[in-house]
Amino acid sequence: MKHLLNTKDLRLDEALLILDTAEAMAETQSRQMKKLPALRGRTVVNLFFEDSTRTRISFEAAAKRLSADVINFSGKGSSVSKGESLKDTAQTLNAMGIDAVVIRHSASGAPQRLAETDWIDVPILNAGDGAHQHPTQALLDAFTMRRWLLGGGAAVPAGTDLAGKKVAIVGDILHSRVVRSNVDLLTTLGAEVTVVGPPTLMPVGAESWPATITYDLDGVIEDLDALMMLRVQYERMAGGGYFPSPAEYSRIYGLDADRLARLPEHAIVMHPGPMNRGLEISSEAADSVRSVVLDQVANGVYVRMAALYLLLASDEGSLS
Ligand code: ASP
Repeated sequence: MKHLLNTKDLRLDEALLILDTAEAMAETQSRQMKKLPALRGRTVVNLFFEDSTRTRISFEAAAKRLSADVINFSGKGSSVSKGESLKDTAQTLNAMGIDAVVIRHSASGAPQRLAETDWIDVPILNAGDGAHQHPTQALLDAFTMRRWLLGGGAAVPAGTDLAGKKVAIVGDILHSRVVRSNVDLLTTLGAEVTVVGPPTLMPVGAESWPATITYDLDGVIEDLDALMMLRVQYERMAGGGYFPSPAEYSRIYGLDADRLARLPEHAIVMHPGPMNRGLEISSEAADSVRSVVLDQVANGVYVRMAALYLLLASDEGSLS
């Protein structure tokens, strides 16, 4: 594999290679000297056409810890806002001699397009495209689950999968690339995935996903290993009408103190961020001992280091 575009096409051995490499990266990050020389002299472009805080910073930190040079490009304030096409932007970057592109775009399929055309001939890493995929998010989620469900929060042996683990992903399924990437990857890793949300936020075709679909959070909450709450993506809800009111949404699909108490004792609470506190997750849940939200953020750097390393630097370990 030359690119990281989605988790659907990731084979089990490839997924495990990324997760195991991320463990090796994590180990290096507890040293005082965090910088590794692997990508010295290489240039990674962060091409962000859509807003992002943690993903962009995380990719930047990952590339820099591997000694790459990083160019941050944001659609706003660039020639893209003057109407420059993805093709022209890609060709311009290609002419500048860069070594990898990390791209976030509001259009599903934009990273795939970059990978398929000859506009640019370097590894493409998808940092989120529309409501389609967000592979490094799913990988950092799986990394976090492996550690918390099988390693007591610490490193796990190479090759550890998530066989039989019960994961529920809850909320705004319709607009979420996180859920799509997670369903694909978690299934490959052997987990049993349940997708939960209001019927208005359940996409047509979800029945064909390798997951159980339900509208009843209370019906599944007592038998889970991990509960992943999704953000209600207001910015993709022009016109509204997806649910009667925020209070009503919280009452039926929010993780409040009562639901938190009904989770099995060992179960972890996850959220990809940014969180709408008080809507899909209460502060009590977000800040509870069960919450691994900040671990997810920390682990994101290790997973992105692994992805960049495998795509750019490793010969024998490359994802081919
Ligand atoms: N940060 C994640 C994403 O970019 C989740 C979210 O925005 O709700 O998809």
